[in-house]
Parts: sequence; C-alpha cells; structure tokens
Amino acid sequence: MPILVLNCGSSSAKYKLYDVKKDIFVAEGMIEKIGEKQSFLKHKSSDGKTISTGIDAPDHHMAIKIIIETLMHDNHGVIKSKDEIKAIGHRVVHGGEEFSSSVLITDKVINSIKKFSRLAPLHNPPALYGIEACIELLSGIPQVAVFDTAFHQTLPVEAYMYAIPYKYYTKYGLRRYGFHGTSHKYVAGKAARMLKKNLKDLKIITCHLGNGCSMTAVDKGNSIETSMGFTPLEGLIMGTRCGDMDPAVVPFLMEQENITTKEVDNILNKKSGLLGVSGIGNDMRQLNEEIAKGNERAKLAIDMFFYRIKKYIGAYMGIMNGLDAIVFTAGIGENNPWLIERVKKEMSELISKFKVEILVIPTKEEWMIAMETNEIIKKS
Ligand code: ADP
Repeated sequence: MPILVLNCGSSSAKYKLYDVKKDIFVAEGMIEKIGEKQSFLKHKSSDGKTISTGIDAPDHHMAIKIIIETLMHDNHGVIKSKDEIKAIGHRVVHGGEEFSSSVLITDKVINSIKKFSRLAPLHNPPALYGIEACIELLSGIPQVAVFDTAFHQTLPVEAYMYAIPYKYYTKYGLRRYGFHGTSHKYVAGKAARMLKKNLKDLKIITCHLGNGCSMTAVDKGNSIETSMGFTPLEGLIMGTRCGDMDPAVVPFLMEQENITTKEVDNILNKKSGLLGVSGIGNDMRQLNEEIAKGNERAKLAIDMFFYRIKKYIGAYMGIMNGLDAIVFTAGIGENNPWLIERVKKEMSELISKFKVEILVIPTKEEWMIAMETNEIIKKS
C-alpha cells in the first residue's frame, strides 16, 4: 500500500505517492497559486499519464480535496479508493526543541506545531492546513510529521546558542535550529552506503545547495553543526538571501534608508545573495552563462558564494577534527561540476592529506519522508 507525502507551502501543495515496498513512486504533482483567482494542477503518474490544468483552489482544504480526487480519477488516477493509502507523511518545517525525530500526528502534536508557528510563520501554518484537511478528508489514515529541524536537534549547546542575553533563549526560544534536516540526513546516509562504510565511522560535510543553501557537519551520523540558524537566513550566500553578516548592518540600513523591519527583512531574504550581488538573478544557470560572457558582477557573486562554502568546509573540518567526505546535493549542488573542481583545486592540500571523498548525491526528501512515515507507523 502506498504512502502519500505532502509538502504544503503558503500557496502550493506538492504531493508524491510512494510504494515504499517496491521503492517506486506511483504518482506525483503539485497545486500552485492556492488562494489566487486561478490555481493550477500538474499531475503525473508512473505510467506516464500527465495533466496540467487550471483549477479552483481557494484554500488548502480544497487543494487537498482535488489532490485526492486526482489520485482516484477514472482516467489518470492511480488508486480506486482512499483506503488504499497506507499513511500520510507531512513535511513540517519547524519542530522547535520538542521533536528530534518524526512523530505520529496527534492532537498534542498539532498543538505543538501551532505553537512553533511563531518561529516559522510562513511555513508551519500551511503544513497545519494540510494536516487538518487530511484529518477531515482521509479520516482514519495515520499521519506522520517529518520536521526539517529534527535532524539538527543533536547540535551541542555551544553550537546552537547565540551570544545574546540568555533570557531571550528562555523567553522566545531564540537559538539556532537549522533546516533542510531531511535532506542532510538522507545524503549523509546515502554517502556512507556509497562508500561502503558505517555512518558511525564517518565525518561528513553535507552541502544542500538549492534556492536555499545550507551545510551540515555530520559526525558519526549526528548533525553537530549546521549553517542555518534561528531562521534560514543565516550561513551560506543563497539565491536571494545574504547569509552571515555583521548584525549591525540591520539597524544601519534601517536608519540610513528610513525603512521598516519588514522592509529590511525583505531586502535580506529576497533581494540579497546571488541576486543582490550580481544584479542579474538568483538562477545559477543564468549566472554561469553571464560569467561565460565576461560579466564581472556575476563572477563576483559566484566567487563570494564559493568562498563562503570553502570557509565553512574549513570550520567544519576543525570542529570534527578531520573529514572523510564532502557531499553536494540539490539544484546547484547536483548540476554544477565546477563546484567540485574548485573544491578539489583550491583545497587540494587538505583534500589529499585527509583523503577526502567528494560526492554528488541527488537529494530525495520526499522519499525520505515516505520512509520515515513507514517506520513510524510500523512502530505505532
Ligand atoms: P529549491 O530549494 O527551490 O528546491 P532547487 O534544489 O531546485 O531549489 O535548486 C535551484 C537552484 O539550482 C537554482 O539556482 C538553479 O539555477 C540551480 N540549477 C538547477 N538545475 C541546474 C542546472 N542544470 N545547472 C546549473 N544550475 C542548476
């Protein structure tokens, strides 16, 4: 029986139906522009049937209803009845300090996810809409929450605390949490299998480089340091996010430009990073093309992007006191061989001294969510 994986964002709902036993996907798709005048459904089944159509999805409840109807459709559907779905795995971004692994969803878990909406106001509410819609529309089918933050709950206290007055940690939960945990956990495990070694014997740096970018130091299978922090803004330079910088830049910009907190937040999250420096865009493909044409600002953006990665590799080698492998994954990590060439060239002494393996591993976040969901329902 297949497992349905749901990933609900503020205006989208992505889904994938997996047969975990056979290790294949049965169908996948997404609804975009939920809540807008015209929403869109894209659906593909493993036997090659596809649909791409305008639909009416004013909210997430309706979007989930349409997804279920699509999965059961006479023509392009893949199941005959809802009861064929074994379980539902939800991607939930923030599990705070409460969840260090995936959990079966209960009323108590729902309340906690609600509580952590304060920490992830853009991400946790849509996940909750998806969960609540499934409770109504697929009642009786077990649901599991898989958190982006869970894998990083093994960070030691000296890594996750900020050096600001301690009371803000107790008052607001202000600390580093880290994100992309499902992806870092998956590629670290896969790297160990590829190297034919036990994960417990390895020191690995995983680099998830997509639109959002983060790196994690995985020591003996545990995340012990990661580059994203209280929010996904910290750490690496990303498509449109600045990553690490002097926090004093924030009040300086607000005063000089006479802008609000919302506006400065928008600049640092949406107008910075590769886009902000290059002035061209946040898409690595476009930047690669511009560099080939000799564009200096595109080159600067990429040099800065790479320099930050290199700096983190050095820091993580220090923290782990050694290194066995570096793994690159996600859109940028999987498709830009120059990244690997540059690491090999510019860090050649360290790479050869420590005999570091460099691997490119496509991430499979939805597959990992399906696997974790399957494990949880087996236990419950
Ligand atoms: P998201 O974080 O939204 O899941 P992705 O993992 O899809 O993002 O990564 C998006 C990034 O990957 C973009 O910067 C895009 O330019 C880059 N990317 C995707 N495909 C390629 C490619 N073939 N060559 C170079 N860069 C690519």
